[in-house]
Amino acid sequence: MAYKISSDCVACGTCMGECPTGAISEGDIYVIDPNVCIDCGTCADACPSGAIAPEE
Ligand code: SF4
Repeated sequence: MAYKISSDCVACGTCMGECPTGAISEGDIYVIDPNVCIDCGTCADACPSGAIAPEE
């Protein structure tokens, strides 16, 4: 399992600075590499748009 960024992302970049493993990269919206994410939840807590949640 990994965290996933939804279309609610407004590309503010807050999560990228918070991720301890550098799993988040910039695109049209931000994306999380599931192979690098350690499921810590830091990004979800930091996201002002509530766009990040654990993948089902
Ligand atoms: Fe990075 Fe943690 Fe978010 Fe995974 S859950 S992308 S490791 S901040």
